[in-house]
Amino acid sequence: MTEKIYHRDAYCRELTSPVTGKESCQGRWRLRLERTIFRPEGGGQPADGGTINGLPLLALEEDGDDIVHVVGNDPGGGDVALRLDFERRFDHMQQHTAQHLLSQVLVRCCGAATLSFAIGPEHSSIETDRPCFSEEETRTVENECMRRIFAALPVRVFASDDPSVLHLRKPAKIAGQIRVVEIAGLDQSACGGTHVGNSAEIGVLKIVRTERVRANVRLVYAAGWRALRDHQLKHDVAQQLQRLVTQPLAEIPGHVKALLRERDGLRREVKKALRREMEREVAAAVAAGDSLVVREFSGLDPSDLRFFATSLMKHGRHVLAFQRPPPALEPSGGGAYIVVGRGQGGFDLRGICARLFAILNGKGGGSANLIEGRGRDFSRSAEAIGLLREALNPGP
Ligand SMILES: [Zn+2]
Repeated sequence: MTEKIYHRDAYCRELTSPVTGKESCQGRWRLRLERTIFRPEGGGQPADGGTINGLPLLALEEDGDDIVHVVGNDPGGGDVALRLDFERRFDHMQQHTAQHLLSQVLVRCCGAATLSFAIGPEHSSIETDRPCFSEEETRTVENECMRRIFAALPVRVFASDDPSVLHLRKPAKIAGQIRVVEIAGLDQSACGGTHVGNSAEIGVLKIVRTERVRANVRLVYAAGWRALRDHQLKHDVAQQLQRLVTQPLAEIPGHVKALLRERDGLRREVKKALRREMEREVAAAVAAGDSLVVREFSGLDPSDLRFFATSLMKHGRHVLAFQRPPPALEPSGGGAYIVVGRGQGGFDLRGICARLFAILNGKGGGSANLIEGRGRDFSRSAEAIGLLREALNPGP
């Protein structure tokens, strides 16, 4: 059995321990120790990190009452020196204690129970049994959490085998002796995680967003150093936005909304002007009289090319319209857009589709009278036009 020092002292960063078992397996070494400061993953809390005799800890596994420590090399004979990645551990302690606090405040303020908890790489989260929270409720919960953090409530861990004298927030999952984590005067939970010694060490607790999960709401929060990093990131973004739009912070959303509205209006105007230009192009092509109209465009959407082609088809003209390929097409990129339309006759364009796009080194498909796709090589475009002309206007 490995003695789990982190259960009674979450702040212990260094320890020496005798090795009680050692085996080599697929280039890795699995160590069993008399005692350890490394906590494996569990209860929503990720595993600890650190080193054993300077070797990075690769994995931690629970095997009954033993903890197996996996490292990449033989740590040598004699006792081993354990060094904890305390920055990572302290983050877990902050997030986990914040969860106890938040879960209790949610019960008191909103009657909401906590169903699950997880510490993610960026934020921590709890799933509640509530379908929604108003903004006002969320704000109240944050304020109530902060009040308890500022109150610097001692956090104590003790063992108990008598649930009748306890005030557990949730019934314990195991019978017999349980480990109780208590935030003085506020919360008692059966928990095997690591926690800070005083609520003040949580620093800050901020709910950063809410998400729907099944019929419930997941509250995503940042506590401790994570809350500061979150604030720093948002502060940087806010400052950059302020410099861009030269507006007071509170005015930025309204200003951005107005800019987006203006942009959408301009896009609509440009689209209209483009369509008018297209209609003139269509009229000129019809007047020119060639049964196959070949046109190269630049800077248009596929929908514009399609509009050009279908307009000419209504006048009984065949069309090959394509985007001018950019000077250096990525070999793996999609290529320039191509639309081919049949304005009259019964020829099925799908019959030459594969050959046409093979010449242009691309891919396409469509219906009997309209095919579209992309091409990456236009050096043989004359051959493609020839093929099309022959297919659509067969000689006598
Ligand atoms: Zn806990």
